[in-house]
Amino acid sequence: MMKEGLLLVISGPSGTGKGTVCKELLKSEKDIKLSVSATTREPRNGEVNGINYYFLDKDTFERQISEDEFLEYAKVYDNYYGTPKKYVIDEINEGNDVLLEIDIQGALQVKEKYPKGIFIFILPPSMNELKKRIVGRGTESEESISKRFGSALDEINYVKEYDYFVINDTVEKAVEKIRGIIRSEKCKVNENIEDLISKFKEEISC
Ligand code: 5GP
Repeated sequence: MMKEGLLLVISGPSGTGKGTVCKELLKSEKDIKLSVSATTREPRNGEVNGINYYFLDKDTFERQISEDEFLEYAKVYDNYYGTPKKYVIDEINEGNDVLLEIDIQGALQVKEKYPKGIFIFILPPSMNELKKRIVGRGTESEESISKRFGSALDEINYVKEYDYFVINDTVEKAVEKIRGIIRSEKCKVNENIEDLISKFKEEISC
């Protein structure tokens, strides 16, 4: 049996810089596959369909829900977001590591369905810094800023459901910590160790 890839799930409150951290991680770890989510929200300036998201209308998204095409989906700030299931399953079965950057509701659904996943929560260095980052991004309306900041505090509690936390003080340090997590996960003794033992046994017998 081929060794399964790792399913890495990264979440954290809006403004923690998890998007940047994931982007930098993918730049240096070229073998990790990014799962492109589907969403009903409008594309922001510069966002490209199929690269940043699959931008779907509400009817299409709801049809795909009913056809069980999502590994998880959630309503975030009045829009649907979801992870297309087939891509993730195919890549993991091929032995590739897959990264999901999704919200907490979605991560908890994935944890139910695939507890072997590695759940990483990105935290800001401080709440002040978090607010600065949300405002500084300049892409959100004032209403959306206060909504996102308000939910950030509630969301931080969910760190307890995750396997690892990473404080994003600088992107480089955060990425380095995630690389460390991946390295140790790859050395973890689990059911995959049987394959290695069988390989060693075969080597002795020939
Ligand atoms: P944004 O609109 O800023 O791109 O994303 C808003 C939130 O939706 C972020 O917290 C992001 O992680 C989350 N998100 C993006 N894709 C997915 C997804 O496929 N599933 C879930 N549950 N959340 C997602």
